[in-house]
Formats: sequence, C-alpha cells, structure tokens
Amino acid sequence: MSSPAAANASSDAAPARTVVHKFGGTSVADADRYRHVAGLLRAREETTQVAVVSAMKGVTDALIELAQAAAAGAPEWRQRWQALHARHHEAAASLLGERAAPVLEWLGQRFEELLQVLDALSVIGSLPEEVSQRVQGLGEVYSARLLGEHLRALGEDCAVLDAREVLVVSHGELGVDVDWDRSARRLADWRQAHPQRRVVATGFVARDAQDRITTLGRNGSDYSGAIFAALFGADELQIWTDVDGVLSADPRVVPEAVQLESLSYDEACELAYFGAKVVHPQTMSPAIERGLPIIIRNTFQPDHPGTRITAGRDVNGPVKGLTLSPHLALLNLEGTGLIGVPGTAERVFAALRTAKVSVVMISQGSSEHSICCVVKQAEAERAQAALAATFSHELAAGQVQRVQYVPGISVLAAVGDGMTGQPGVAARLFQSLGRAQVNIRAIAQGSSERNISVAIDSEQATRALRAAHAGFWLSPQTFAVGVIGPGNVGAALVDQLLAARGPLLKRANLDLRLRAIASSRRQVLDVRGIGQDWRERLAASGEAADLDRFTEQLLDSHLPHIVIVDCSASAQIADRYPQWLAAGIHVITPNKQAGAGPLERYKAIRKAAAASGARFRYEATVGAGLPVISTLRDLLDTGDVVTSIEGIFSGTLAWLFNKYDGSVPFSQLVAQARAQGYTEPDPRDDLSGTDVARKLVILAREAGRELSLEDVDVESLVPEALRQASVDDFMARLDEVDAGFAARLAAAGAEGKVLRYVARLDAEGRASVGLVELPRAHAFANLRLTDNVVQFTTRRYCDNPLVVQGPGAGPEVTAAGVFADVLRVAAGRGARL
Ligand code: ADP
Ligand code: ASP
Ligand code: MG
Repeated sequence: MSSPAAANASSDAAPARTVVHKFGGTSVADADRYRHVAGLLRAREETTQVAVVSAMKGVTDALIELAQAAAAGAPEWRQRWQALHARHHEAAASLLGERAAPVLEWLGQRFEELLQVLDALSVIGSLPEEVSQRVQGLGEVYSARLLGEHLRALGEDCAVLDAREVLVVSHGELGVDVDWDRSARRLADWRQAHPQRRVVATGFVARDAQDRITTLGRNGSDYSGAIFAALFGADELQIWTDVDGVLSADPRVVPEAVQLESLSYDEACELAYFGAKVVHPQTMSPAIERGLPIIIRNTFQPDHPGTRITAGRDVNGPVKGLTLSPHLALLNLEGTGLIGVPGTAERVFAALRTAKVSVVMISQGSSEHSICCVVKQAEAERAQAALAATFSHELAAGQVQRVQYVPGISVLAAVGDGMTGQPGVAARLFQSLGRAQVNIRAIAQGSSERNISVAIDSEQATRALRAAHAGFWLSPQTFAVGVIGPGNVGAALVDQLLAARGPLLKRANLDLRLRAIASSRRQVLDVRGIGQDWRERLAASGEAADLDRFTEQLLDSHLPHIVIVDCSASAQIADRYPQWLAAGIHVITPNKQAGAGPLERYKAIRKAAAASGARFRYEATVGAGLPVISTLRDLLDTGDVVTSIEGIFSGTLAWLFNKYDGSVPFSQLVAQARAQGYTEPDPRDDLSGTDVARKLVILAREAGRELSLEDVDVESLVPEALRQASVDDFMARLDEVDAGFAARLAAAGAEGKVLRYVARLDAEGRASVGLVELPRAHAFANLRLTDNVVQFTTRRYCDNPLVVQGPGAGPEVTAAGVFADVLRVAAGRGARL
C-alpha cells in the first residue's frame, strides 16, 4: 500500500496542491501548441498552478543572432527582426482571434523598442554583454504573455508574472545563484497584487544584484521552473518537453535509447552536467533541499508517466544513462620535473581559474609524470597560454617538456548510482569502446563512483556512444554488414541473415544491419538497411561495383561494429583483407584464397587482425558448415598438439569413389555427377585435387605449420593430355582414363581394399592429396555418398582420433557456416548468444 502522500505525488488522478509546470520551447512552437498546453493546464485541478514558459522554439537563437547581426552591421538584420515580429504577431492573432488587438499592440510596442536597441547596436558596432542578456530573454516575455492571455480568453483566472520583476540572481563561478530572500520578498509583494489561482511566468529571465536584466544561461527555463517551485512552495515540478522523459542517451545520436522511469537527483545532475540537454544541470539544486519531485514528461504524449527524479535510488543496472559533451579540447602538461612535486595540480587549477577557464575533466597518472585536463574548445587556447605562463620556468629549465594541446575532443560519461562499489563497470565501458575501435585519450572516475568519463576524439564520438550504450545492454549490439559476391552461397547467406534478424534482435540483443551488397559488376549501398527485395534492388542498381565506396559506406555508418563477408572466390578481394582488418572491420569468408594463397598475404592478414583486434574467420572454407576449424582451434587453444590431419575434403570426389565399384566406367560416373550438379561446371576443378589441397593448406596453417600450396604433393586425376582441352573435349575423351582406374580398383579389391581420394598432413609436416587404397572397414570407406570427413590425431586423441563428419557442400550449409562465424564474432563483441 502506498501512502496518500506518495499517491499524491505520483499520479494525475489525485493532484498535489501547488504544482509548477515548465514548458520548453519544443512545447510552444506555434499557436496550436499553445492551445494544447492551455488544454493540459486546464485539465488539472490544482489549488495553485504555475506555468513557467520558454520562448517559442528557436526564438532565443533568433534573438541572439539578430543582436549579433545588428552589432556586426550585417545588412539583413532588419528582415530578420521583421520575420520574428511577424511570427509572434501571427501566433497571437491566431490564438486570440477577436481579443487579439491589445496584445498585438503590446507586441508592436515591444518590437519597436527592440528595433531601437538594435539600431543603437548597429551604430556602436558592438554587443555589450548587458544588452545581449536583455535581448535574448525577450522571447520568454512574449511567450508568457501569449499563454496568459489565451488562458484568460478561455475564462481562466490567470496572472502573468514577468520574472524580471521578482527573481534576483547573481552569476558565480559555479553557475547562477539565487538571492532567495530578495526574490521571496518581491514575489510576496507581487502575489499581494496578483492572487490568481493560475500564474504564467517567464522562464530564463531574471535581474542581477545591480538590477540589470539577465538570464539563467541557455536552457535555463528548467532552472526557472525549479526556482519558482521553491518560491511557491510547490509539491511538485513537472518539466514538459518533446520526449517521454530522460532517455538512456541522446535520442538524436542513439535512436534506440530507452526511457528511464526514475533517476536520483545525483544521477540527473551528472547526466545534465555532462550534456543531456533534456534538463538543465542546476535545476536539481532547489529541488534537492526541499525534496521536491521533478517529473520530466512529454507534451506530445501527456498520458506517458515520464521520468521521476527524486532523492530515492534504485540501482537497477550499474549504468542508467550515457552522455556526450562535444566541442572540448585536451591539455596535457608533461614532464619529469612534475614527479613527486607537491602542489603541481594546485598550480594547474589556479592558472586555469585565473584565466577563467572551467575544467570539464582532469586525470593524472599515479606516476605524476603528466596531468591532463579537458576544457571547452573555445577556452582552450587561453588555457594553454595560462599553463605555459605558469610553468614558464619549468619549461625553460626542461622540467616540463610541453603543454600539449589536442582539439576536437568529446567526453563520454556513463552515469548511474548502481556503479558504486560494483566492480567491472569501467571494464565493461572500456571493453565496449575497445571493441568498437575507439581510442580513449583520458579517463576519470569521481570517487562518488557515479560517473566514469572518458575523453575521446569527436570523430569517434557517435560510434563510441552507440557502442557503450549497447555494451551496457541499454540497446542491442549493432553491426553494419556488407556482403560481397551474392552467388549461390552469398545469396543463401543474405536470405538467412534477413530471416534471422528479428529473432536475433529479440533473443540475443543483436542487430545485424545489412548495409551493402556487391556483385562483381554492381552494388547496392543503403544506410537505412537492405531488406528482402535485395535481389531486385541489386539487379536494378545503376551503381557499378566499387569496393572503395563499399568500404567507405560501411565505415561511415557510425555503427560500433562492421563485418564484411566475402563470398567471392576472388584473390583480388582477399588482397583487401589486411586493409579492412587494420581499419577494425571484421572479415568473414568461405573464400579459400586468403587461407591457402601466398604465405606473405596470409601473414599480413594475421598481423593486421592481431594489431586491430578485428576478427578474421573462415570456418566455411573447409567442410562447408561443419565445425572443422573451430574444432581444431579448440584443440589447440586448450593446449593439445596436433600430430596429423587426414580426411576426405571433397564431396564430389567422395561421391565418385563411393559409387565406383567397377560396374560403371569411371568416366560415366563423372558424367552422371556432372549432370546432377555435384561437380564444378568444369569437373577438372574437382578432379585435379587443387581444391582439396587448398583445404589441407588452410588446416595445416591453422595448426601452426607454414605450408603453401606448392608444398603439397597433389595427385591429379586429370591426365596430362586432357588438361588443356575444352570442357566438352575433356568430357568426350574422359573414357581414356577408364582402363587405368579399373586396374587400380581391381588391384585394391584383390587385397580387400577400396579407393578413396584422401588428404593427409603427417607428423613430419608432409602434405599430400591423392588416391589411396583403404581397407573396407576403414572409417573413410563407410561414409554417406557426399559426406566430408576430417580426422584429427592429437596428443590427447592419439589412440582414437577425433572425427568431424557430415555433408560438406551445398549453398545452404555453407552459408550457415559463414553465418555461424558472424555470430561468433558478435558473441565476442558482447551479443548475448
Ligand atoms: P525544451 O525546449 O523542452 O527545453 P530541449 O530541446 O532543451 O527541450 O531538450 C529536449 C531534447 O533533449 C530532446 O528533444 C532530445 O533530443 C534531447 N536530449 C539529449 N539528451 C537526452 C536524454 N538523455 N534524454 C532525453 N532527451 C535528450
Ligand atoms: N529559451 C531559452 C533557451 O533557448 C531558455 C530555455 O528554453 O530553457 O536557451
Ligand atoms: Mg531545454
């Protein structure tokens, strides 16, 4: 059972007595929105209701630009002034209809006064801070009058409060301080004259101690809301905006951001301070002292409960939200002379303070060799000069080597009360960023353990935020996927990827987004994703295949992870792997060129993958979807030693020799196999043994042997005389081999043996592929028709080898093998598989 007070505070059904509502510019963009807001307010039965309003959307920006343009003598400022006047005039006329005249006249006078100020600015040619403050707050004055008059026109008992008449503040180093006593006295006086039940007040504006008009800083109407909530002794502050509350990240950067039901004041402060624009950071302080609940909610979805900010802590998950602060720079003071010298940090801060530079983040290694701080980009040069001046002596003496300055920095902060005392949170953040190839330049964690901040390059900021967001399970792990070579296997893979997308998203929190498909001639690139109609789109695509653009597009997607799946059989594409891997792109392929091609390229691929941490996987190169390479890896990774590998690696050759018992000549079996589609279009590709040899090379290299195709002793089943012939000629003359095969079969049969085409790597590293005689009882002699088999003899599996066996060909199973590699990479990146 909840107490009546709690019910009061949390539901609209039993309203609190005094409630302050704040409506942001997003809620009052035009006449219609004012009507909507008035409707919301009127529907609420509150004893005292205060609505604090912002300027209409975009008006503050417009006023600031107007003043700057006038001061700079830009010719178009009069037109801008006119446009702004017209916007307000229209809104008032539409909102107030017949009763608009007095307000239109009032607006006319206000805009005339503004015009005079602007004229004066254009004459003096500069914009004094005092004037700038006065001008930028005018939007709130107009806005409050519009809403107030509209409520009155609807018959409501309503007063309009110009905060410049009551609110007194001063600008301190930590922000804007309220002179509570003076403000309360002025409000009491005002209230005497205006006892109405409903009040509409201006946000953002105030007076300073010298009675000059001032503002509470950009986005300051939220703070106004909290201040008026305190001054009116409100039970609750509701901040109305255009999103469902505070989200786990800025929805413009992370569209998957989730709404947070509740936050503690501390969490909200940290999120706001580090850039969550949804609420101004100072809003919380008047609320904290009074235990006033703040509810952030959506004007466009008034039924949504929004986010409740209170003193209560719920520690669901270590991290509640993530923010980005852009436009920062990093300063690094570095020198051996700093080691063990007390007071260095103090001197750094004193210098920055004197230069009026605010420090966003600091970090010092325990070696004390360097101190690094992050400051606003706009203040960075001043800060660098201040530090250089303060440490000029040490710089000259060589005790401080340099004051390094790095522009283009953003700070990413992870915030949550739940991280206190919880190990592994920082690790999770760094891991997510590392896996997304984001370079961290500096790290800071406050001892409150409510916030971990990292400084990163702004270029990587979006990717970093998305990766961290997914890393804390706040949104799915997202991969941009590009597929090259949509032939049999490639096409099956694309279909499988698209079919599995929904279930993977739900079950494994994994979002695979197909962003690019390239054939040898054409390509389709689409940042919004490619769907089921990919065949038609590719066929109709006017874009020629261009792997540079293909790659760029994937890199530009700002998704945390990128995978390229190469389903071609091309060596030129394999040449690109090192460069892709070096850029952090994972490469997955059933193409044997890389694994069995020149050793030099193979080593370059391995090296690039090791350096960047991107993965290169190629399970489907051997035995299609069978877990051959992963089995071998598991053996090796657990410390086993492979002595030999043996097997039948070709479904075609398996079928031929399983069938070949002498009743039908060998050449006729080949023709049959070809007719049934078991062979390559040119059966010599199978009969030559090269494909089998390639697979053996791949396995040998996996087992740590530096083997190349030239080192494999290959018995080709294609006689010398037929190697150059056309395919038709070859098929026509293939009966020339029949006698030879019949003789070998007969000889084997006489010893109770059969013929099989086998690949072998022995303990000495000798590699061979060719036709061998095996006893009838041998495992390889008893396979299903087209099965592959791979047998590993190892130190552990020495008496009885480990065998992987099953269908080793076909587009569906091969594509599934490739897909499994994609999922393994995703699992390694934090997907819940
Ligand atoms: P208002 O005019 O209502 O004050 P603002 O534009 O100042 O609105 O702030 C609301 C906007 O803040 C949202 O539209 C959203 O794009 C942005 N925003 C940034 N970070 C967050 C976050 N963590 N949660 C919610 N919104 C956020
Ligand atoms: N209108 C002011 C601004 O745009 C204050 C606010 O809306 O919070 O910064
Ligand atoms: Mg705002």
